[in-house]
Amino acid sequence: SKDSGGGAYHSYEPQLHMAAEERRVLEIALRSAVENGEMHLNYQPVVLADSGTLRGFEALLRWTHPEFGVVSPAKFVPLAEDARLIPAIGEWVLRTACQEAAKWDSDIRVAVNVSPEQLHSPAFATMVAQALAQSGLPAERLELEVTESVFMREGTQAIHVLEKVLELGVKLSLDDFGTGYSSLGYLAHTRFSTIKIDRSFVQGASKGTKEAIAIIRAVVALADSLGMATTAEGVETEEEHHMVQRLGCTKVQGYYFGRPLPVQEARALAIRASSG
Ligand code: C2E
Ligand code: CA
Ligand code: CA
Ligand code: CA
Repeated sequence: SKDSGGGAYHSYEPQLHMAAEERRVLEIALRSAVENGEMHLNYQPVVLADSGTLRGFEALLRWTHPEFGVVSPAKFVPLAEDARLIPAIGEWVLRTACQEAAKWDSDIRVAVNVSPEQLHSPAFATMVAQALAQSGLPAERLELEVTESVFMREGTQAIHVLEKVLELGVKLSLDDFGTGYSSLGYLAHTRFSTIKIDRSFVQGASKGTKEAIAIIRAVVALADSLGMATTAEGVETEEEHHMVQRLGCTKVQGYYFGRPLPVQEARALAIRASSG
């Protein structure tokens, strides 16, 4: 891959052509990864595009296997989804993020990624309610990130589960917007707070690609008229920041503002942001 993100860039790319044997070995290891304590969360800052003020953190799952070392979520999350390990791993992520964020002594939000399969189950909303109650995290400090594929694969069941989650007071954001399913109908009936614009458009726009600029403009206009915010994802440079700011994105996230951080560092930033 290209050099745009420094040395770590290629480790974030999905491994689409994993060998069958590698998949099998990783899948077996993944089955016991949570109980063996091999998983933890990192937290990446999300800041206001204009002022740079911290608005929240996105929880990102990390797996360190004793033998294979650090395995990228771009590699193991799709594998866990295929092997039906996601409901359990996803529950661990949600409970851990709520517990950790509840200890920040701050009103800073935490965003948690949710796989489509998690929204199969009507029990998902109950689990979210429990995670909030047990951690003491106020519902409005939790945001769930779902992708458009949810509306393609799970249709009405997912919409129903998302409605129950919204009733708890939890926020929703629409992740990787523009990279998947291309219908906009669901925006009319599901209340998203934020649309996250995929890094591919951010990169394109800052290179001057007309189509990428037009798409970001259109998404910002759409979000504005629906009362939603926009987050530009994967902002790596000052030029990319200025471009998405000019195009009207509300919030930004990316290596230029901060890498995914260990929980103690995120907590320190959250406390500092809250005390002014
Ligand atoms: P995502 O939800 O789109 O998360 C953003 C990804 O972009 C993260 O990769 C983040 O580290 C990376 N990123 C942030 N800023 C930059 C930047 O400036 N440049 C570049 N090149 N990349 C940047 P990560 O942590 O490797 O996660 C990859 C994907 O794995 C996530 O994409 C998400 O789809 C999935 N994932 C991660 N954690 C979880 C989780 O707890 N549950 C589920 N279901 N999926 C997760
Ligand atoms: Ca995300
Ligand atoms: Ca994303
Ligand atoms: Ca992405």
